[in-house]
Formats: sequence, structure tokens, C-alpha cells
Amino acid sequence: MPPVTALVGATVVAIDGGAPIRDAVVLVQGERILQVGPSASVAVPAGARVVPMQGKWLLPGLMNMHVHFGLKLPGAAGAELVNETDGEEALRMADNARRSLLAGVTTVRLTAEDHGIDFMLKRAIARGQAIGPRIESAGELIVPTGGHGSLEADGPAEFSKVAREQIKRGATWIKIAISGGISDSHGSISAAPMTDAELSTIIEVAHRNGVKVTAHNGSSEAALQALKFGIDCFEHGYHLNDEVLSKMKAQGVWLVPTIVVSQPGAYEFYRKIGSPDWYLERVASTGKDHWAMLQKAIRMGINVALGTDQFPFEPNGGTTATVAEAELYVKAGMTPLQALQAATIQPARMLGLDKEVGRIVPGQYADIVAVSADPTRDIAALRTLDFVMKGGAIYRDDAHPEPVAR
Ligand SMILES: [Zn+2]
Repeated sequence: MPPVTALVGATVVAIDGGAPIRDAVVLVQGERILQVGPSASVAVPAGARVVPMQGKWLLPGLMNMHVHFGLKLPGAAGAELVNETDGEEALRMADNARRSLLAGVTTVRLTAEDHGIDFMLKRAIARGQAIGPRIESAGELIVPTGGHGSLEADGPAEFSKVAREQIKRGATWIKIAISGGISDSHGSISAAPMTDAELSTIIEVAHRNGVKVTAHNGSSEAALQALKFGIDCFEHGYHLNDEVLSKMKAQGVWLVPTIVVSQPGAYEFYRKIGSPDWYLERVASTGKDHWAMLQKAIRMGINVALGTDQFPFEPNGGTTATVAEAELYVKAGMTPLQALQAATIQPARMLGLDKEVGRIVPGQYADIVAVSADPTRDIAALRTLDFVMKGGAIYRDDAHPEPVAR
């Protein structure tokens, strides 16, 4: 039997609502949670490694559903990466994966990476050769020629082929761009350049392989077209109108808002990376629509899964992009508990992994983070995150820095 670790004395947040477990004992064996309950009813077995957690609140590891570990954007920082080799990119992505995990993000969905490096990194993390979150990946971003991405295809046959290639490499999602993006220097965010035949075919091919499809999208016209063919998820949703939002609600389609990229907190980031003026202007003009769309989506009860489109650990207003994103959800109308769910059980459900991750219950992977105040009262408690366990291994423990696994 693998040794048991006991997290003792914390309050376990009731992520599904209800009363938290105070003075809790969380027993972890191997990669999984063995038992959870108040100390009066859960005994710490002899020989267990005891980690004192008094004064802490435990919640499931955070999940970030829109991440690019190899992110390059226009501007000076991006220009330095123009001649980056795949080997260099793999090492840079591994560093970003490690920093994401240490920021409390134990699962990510990668929504466009280069040349299959994401799948190599995922295998390296699974083998213990690199440190990082659990990875679900969409592989490369598939677009019609001239679209917002690099893997171009035209006509249903090519769309089928490139989608199947990504799935063969290990993609558990397919990502397409059905409109332009903020970072494009040509094309319009509102255009819908894919044909019905292309769009319906790629969604059918993915679904026949048990793979979901998400779309980078800022256009209502393109959104309605994709909804007709059973799209599973939209990224950003900058300019989505009421008709689109109602159909999303009716069809249970997911929204990954990445609201953090268009709001003022991100300007510090854009200045740091040396973004050109035209880019900052596009961000500002998009921000107002994006915010109004998010408020409406929350009011309508559309499925929201947290995603940032920035590195999960990217500094933002004194915290990380992941925490800033959750704070913005509360500002836009969620309760703190709903925002926590958007960062845990909702992404788990979206990924179809809700039996494995997203809750602190027996049988699930022991992906657990700790904060110093009740995050269901004030979402800003996430700013105090200082403990990260993934798969039963402690990667960060600021109170006891010695024995961590990193
Ligand atoms: Zn993105």
C-alpha cells in the first residue's frame, strides 16, 4: 500500500454548495483522495505523513480552459521568438507549465500549440520528466486559408484530414477559428469565412471520434452557423448577440470567456510585451462588448468554464491572470461560489473528467490547493493561494517549503 498523506485541520470548501467541512482530515493515498471528513470522524492512520493545514481553506485545484504554453503575441516579446526552434519552444512551454502548476492550476486545456509539442509535453509530465498541470489539448488551431491560425485547410476533405491528424496525435479537442481575432492585422472579427460544408464536416469528424469542438469566435453570424452544426464551446465570444446566447443556453454550449484579455487589468501585460498601438486599440474597442456579453451570459445561466488566453500565472493587478479572471466573473454577476465552480467542477464537466478531477471527494485525483480565507465569501481569497498538491504530490507549500516535490 502506498503511504498516506493527511492534510489536517483545514476547512474544506463545499464546492457544490452547502456547509464546508471544518477541522477536516483529507487522506490522500498515491495519486488519489482516500477519505474526507471532520477530524471527529476520520482517523489519521499510523505512519501517515501529517501536513498541518490549520487556518487554511482547501479547494479543488484550479482548472484553466484556455491556455497556450507556447503563446507568442505581436510586439517586442513575440518578435524575439520568431526564430525559436521546436526544441527551444518545448523547453519554454515546460517552464510555463511548471509555473502554471505552482500558481495553483492543476488542469489546463491547451487551445492551440505548435507542431505537436503539446502532446510531447503532456507525455513528459505524465512520465514525471517535466512538472506541470494535467493537459487536455486541441493540438493545432485549424482555420480556412487566411484565417486566425496557422494550420490552414480548405474544403470538407482537407478539414477532415487535418482534424483526424490532430486526433491521431492525441487531441481530445478540436479548435477552429470561425472568425477573425484581436491579434489579426487583416480580416474582420465579425466575418464568417467557413462554408457550411467545411464547418459541418469538421464537427462531424470530431464527434465521431469522441472529441469536442471549440471555436475561436467573435462573430454572431459565425456563431449561429456553428450552433446549427452542434459546436460544443465558444472561446472569448466578444460580440455574441442575444440570439446566439439564447441558443447557447438551449443547447448547453460552453463559454470560455477569457475576459481578462480585454479588460483594463491586462493593459500592464500588453505594455510589458511591447504591443503595438493598433493592437491596444482593438483590445479597448472589444472590451466593452465583451464585458456586456459576459454579464448577459452569466445572467442567463450559460455554462461558463474559466479560461484566460494568457499564461495562467501571468501577473495581473497584483495577482495571476487565473485569479483575476475569477474575480472578473464575480464583478460581472457570479457569486463567489459560482466563480469557484467555473474554475473547478464546471471545466471538469466540460472536459468529461468530472469523475476524475474537480472535487475533493474520495476516488478523485488529489488535486488540491489552499488559501487563507473563505473564497466563497470573497473570491479575492484566491490571491492568498500558497499550497498546491497535484496527484497526491505537494508541489508548493509556502508554510513548509522544504519537502516539496518541485
Ligand atoms: Zn487563445
